[in-house]
Amino acid sequence: LGRRINAAVSDVTRSSVVDQNAVDAMLKEISNALVEADVNIKLVLNLRKKLKATIDTEDKPGVNKKKIIQKAVFDELCELVDCKDAQVFKPRKKQSNVVMFVGLQGAGKTTTCTKLAVYYQRRGFKVGMVCADTFRAGAFDQLKQNATKAKIPYYGSYTEADPVKVAFDGVEKFKKEKFEIIIVDTSGRHRQEKELFAEMIQIGEAVKPNQTIMVLDASIGQAAEAQSKAFKESSNFGAIILTKMDGHAKGGGAISAVAATHTPIAFIGTGEHIQDLESFTPRQFVSKLLGIGDIQGLMEHVTSLNLDQKDTLKNFQEGKFTMRDLQTQMNNILKMGPLSKIAQMLPGGMGDMINQMGEEETSKKFKRMVYVMDSMTKQELDSDGSIFIDQPSRIVRVARGSGTSVTEVEALLMQQKMFARMAKTTKNMQQQAPPGMAGK
Ligand code: GDP
Ligand code: MG
Repeated sequence: LGRRINAAVSDVTRSSVVDQNAVDAMLKEISNALVEADVNIKLVLNLRKKLKATIDTEDKPGVNKKKIIQKAVFDELCELVDCKDAQVFKPRKKQSNVVMFVGLQGAGKTTTCTKLAVYYQRRGFKVGMVCADTFRAGAFDQLKQNATKAKIPYYGSYTEADPVKVAFDGVEKFKKEKFEIIIVDTSGRHRQEKELFAEMIQIGEAVKPNQTIMVLDASIGQAAEAQSKAFKESSNFGAIILTKMDGHAKGGGAISAVAATHTPIAFIGTGEHIQDLESFTPRQFVSKLLGIGDIQGLMEHVTSLNLDQKDTLKNFQEGKFTMRDLQTQMNNILKMGPLSKIAQMLPGGMGDMINQMGEEETSKKFKRMVYVMDSMTKQELDSDGSIFIDQPSRIVRVARGSGTSVTEVEALLMQQKMFARMAKTTKNMQQQAPPGMAGK
């Protein structure tokens, strides 16, 4: 999607005459790309109207059109997935917060229950899971297996057939034992059957959830709108978790679901493993959809911290990023915490690393990365890292000097390479329009 949108924008900005026809053709191409990415058609038409207005009103001579269009697409998409006025659920410690999951069979509820349980457990909550799926054979075993692997206490029954009773008993038991987060997994039928919704409502009345979460399979595409609407009407969920974002899903369904229900997406599932759960932030989501990192957000955050950034920012804008810049950044990151906020804004590896390993472990790892850089020479630090290419002896020397391993040094160099590339991309995106374009 990102590639197509960028291509559309490039086409129009590359042509020597940017007339109305060219802009219309570009808007059409962007719209097609979005519809293909499963964004709801009505939303796309609205978006197109808005983009057109933005481009027209900002159509001043000398203004970089490419930048305006890219920014307008980015901003509009962010707006669509952002639920600014929605209340975000914040569980309180030392009291029982009941979280109920709803969604169709196969959406990923049971898997996501465990992921969320682990997420909260890592943040110091006492977490338990209740299996209220008495419909599907093997449902309890699945939850039990997941819970055991993640070392999360669980409750369920092989004999009781009434899901409402199991849910109620489980929640009561965990409440008595002063559990702080009690996650209730429910059944989901193949289709949105009446019985499913009736059962959901009854379980809801029995356990009185503080938060209801709808789990939505991202790969259902255009069906996202109808499905999320139906669930919203019967369960009035307060958050969405979008699963299987690691697969072929294009993510447009997320936009439709949010727009149809005015409910925020809390997390996205990005794999089958326990740690494959990422916080959802509109900017990051759209950046990924469009294939860019949220550089702007990161820069804003970094600037707001008043850290020692001047040289790095200047370098970055010039398309440069040296080892020394990385050293400064890592030191700053370690100073500024919480890492998870930073992680959301980083593209690729580093963000995932923080999300998966948790704060403490990441912090340790980051410190080791700083040791590596502390062992580099001035010349090495002022380079973009390519000085190490085909220089195994340099790498070994740095590893020895820093008390780390060759693997760790190599990993750091990979990271550096990514940032250096990002700096280049950012610069290219900000570059003035090609000659012949200006003023048109
Ligand atoms: P439920 O019927 O809603 O409880 O769905 P399950 O939790 O049993 O998940 C159905 C299937 O989807 C399982 O094979 C999961 O491993 C898989 N699954 C769930 N979440 C994700 C995800 O984020 N990514 C991928 N690739 N698979 C997932
Ligand atoms: Mg299940």
